[in-house]
Amino acid sequence: MLSEANGSIAGAGALLNILRDGQARTRAELVQLTGLARSTLAQRLDALLSQQWIIPTEEAISSGGRPAIAFTFNRTARVVLSADLGATHARVAVTDLGTTVLAERAAEVSIDRGPEETLGWLQRTFEEMLAETGHRPDEICGIGVGLPGPVEHSTGRPVNPPIMPGWDGFPVPEWLGSRLGAPVLVDNDVNIMALGEHWAARPEADHLIFVKIGTGIGCGIISDRRLHRGAQGAAGDIGHIRVASALDTVCRCGNIGCLEAVASGAAMAARLSADGVEAEDSRDVVRLVRGGNTHAVQLIRQAGREVGDVLASIVNFFNPSVIVVGGDISEAGEQVLAGLREVIYSRSLPLATQHLTITASELGDRAGVIGAAVMVIEHVLAPGSVDRSVSVPTV
Ligand SMILES: [Zn+2]
Repeated sequence: MLSEANGSIAGAGALLNILRDGQARTRAELVQLTGLARSTLAQRLDALLSQQWIIPTEEAISSGGRPAIAFTFNRTARVVLSADLGATHARVAVTDLGTTVLAERAAEVSIDRGPEETLGWLQRTFEEMLAETGHRPDEICGIGVGLPGPVEHSTGRPVNPPIMPGWDGFPVPEWLGSRLGAPVLVDNDVNIMALGEHWAARPEADHLIFVKIGTGIGCGIISDRRLHRGAQGAAGDIGHIRVASALDTVCRCGNIGCLEAVASGAAMAARLSADGVEAEDSRDVVRLVRGGNTHAVQLIRQAGREVGDVLASIVNFFNPSVIVVGGDISEAGEQVLAGLREVIYSRSLPLATQHLTITASELGDRAGVIGAAVMVIEHVLAPGSVDRSVSVPTV
């Protein structure tokens, strides 16, 4: 249960992780679980209590006599600010340390206004929402931001983002962190959606793929319960895998034959409007499908098959137990899932699909803000970070 990987064995951070399961534990239980001496345990608990990471509760089920004191993780010790910034719309939230949403807002904000204007809006929105929830700036433990483009996670800087003029290399964490006085973590939108969906809806899945089908196509990969970003943070960029049906189509990346060029919401909208059906973006495509437009229904089913074709290879390679489909186009529900399932189950190896679940996102358009909060919480509550926050000397 305990490991040396992060923080000291049974240090304050490791103790806090034991208490995060929501179950109140007494001193006796903690001594038994950790093997710590009572005096050392007392020192660790005092450190956690002084930072309000835990709170004492009275455990009534004592074996006769007076009730024993137990301790639980204090989810309200700090607040997290999280934002999912898309190409044209944004969702912003304030959560506690258990991802309970305390305040939430959605707004139409275009990312192509550039970093300073967009982040300035975000800063003002965060400050207003913090005030709404009655919290002070010193209660912010961290800020999580999702962006609609490639991000170098270690520095939080966007790298050649195709739809974000002015953002290339912009120091998002420094800009926002210096104004709000808290650490800032940044990642691309589909990675945080994968984190959110895994945490909230599929915590039991060890290996999960979250596919976002919206204006573009991408996926977030949970491998062994951790987000897999790859060497440069480019893992999961399936939108630019070459597919046979797109060989005469130029993609926005400049290549020919990309999956995104035939199966994304933008590609379907373009195809529909070329055929005289009014459609500008993914949302219009979903609206037409819901309204029973047969052309749109055929297109979305075919898009499901195209994405399924690429995923069938990925299933053979990666062997996930769950594929979650999110993004605007997933709102069309079974129409897109049907084509996807059809191809994956017929093309992937039986052993890989035996226990494979393919499902629509449960969190929907909230997956991003929940995931951005999870990214911050996992960082702040990592045993090593907690040890540093309480400055307990390691033994
Ligand atoms: Zn491409």
